[in-house]
Amino acid sequence: MEKIIEIKNVEKYYGTKTNVVKALDNVSLSINEGDFVAIMGPSGGGKSTLLNCMSTIDTVSSGDVLINDKSIVNMNKKEIDNVRKKDIGFIFQDFSLIDTLNAYDNIALSLTLASKKVDEKAIKEMSNLLGISDQLNKFSDELSGGQKQRVAAARALIKEPKVLFADEPTGALDSKSSRDLLDKFVTVNKELNTSIVMVTHDLLSASYANEVVFLKDGKVYNKIQRLEGESKQEFQKRINELFVLICEEA
Ligand code: ADP
Repeated sequence: MEKIIEIKNVEKYYGTKTNVVKALDNVSLSINEGDFVAIMGPSGGGKSTLLNCMSTIDTVSSGDVLINDKSIVNMNKKEIDNVRKKDIGFIFQDFSLIDTLNAYDNIALSLTLASKKVDEKAIKEMSNLLGISDQLNKFSDELSGGQKQRVAAARALIKEPKVLFADEPTGALDSKSSRDLLDKFVTVNKELNTSIVMVTHDLLSASYANEVVFLKDGKVYNKIQRLEGESKQEFQKRINELFVLICEEA
């Protein structure tokens, strides 16, 4: 299977010489084509740092990060911009839509920024897939939180990235909107084969993934995979058991 992201012995330090925080401690991880991975663990364990380091938002202190077999560690700004445009999509907790553009134009802008043709048919198809085709004329203040996040997902996915990074994507959503969004993630993951890497502290969200990576004190503490035929509820139970264990040992 094609490796989309590879993290090799990554360390990340923050702070000054007198006050150093080791946020990532020798982390190695691979994300393959079509994977849906949730990153979980106690607060301060390094989840966001890991997501940021594997998605070009932050740089590592040592070790290597490969996207599509190419190391991004020594890339110049232009090369990094190219990777961001072509290979990766982002969704953030606060949606980050442009308020002065309607939903359609928010999605179309992503194509323009990626130097791609604005393809109306593709935008309509993606909107159908994410269940927002009736919302395309609306502006941010006319959309619910769940609709905004699905527009943000369409914006990230319209350029057909290899991988979608999501940091607490359901953090600002109610439980029904969260489930709707996560169902859409599963659809996108299956139908478009887009890999998804999602940071979450929420057990329900994690249960939609196929693999959960637990981070604690900046280290990969454990990984579990959803078994063939295992229901979300059963998987969530196993995730919960491990999560409780990790927190007890804190
Ligand atoms: P999580 O997402 O699991 O809550 P983070 O990745 O946000 O954890 O943080 C990991 C560690 O790195 C924490 O100790 C945090 O305080 C520290 N940290 C994160 N970002 C910064 C930063 N920009 N400057 C200094 N310390 C940071």
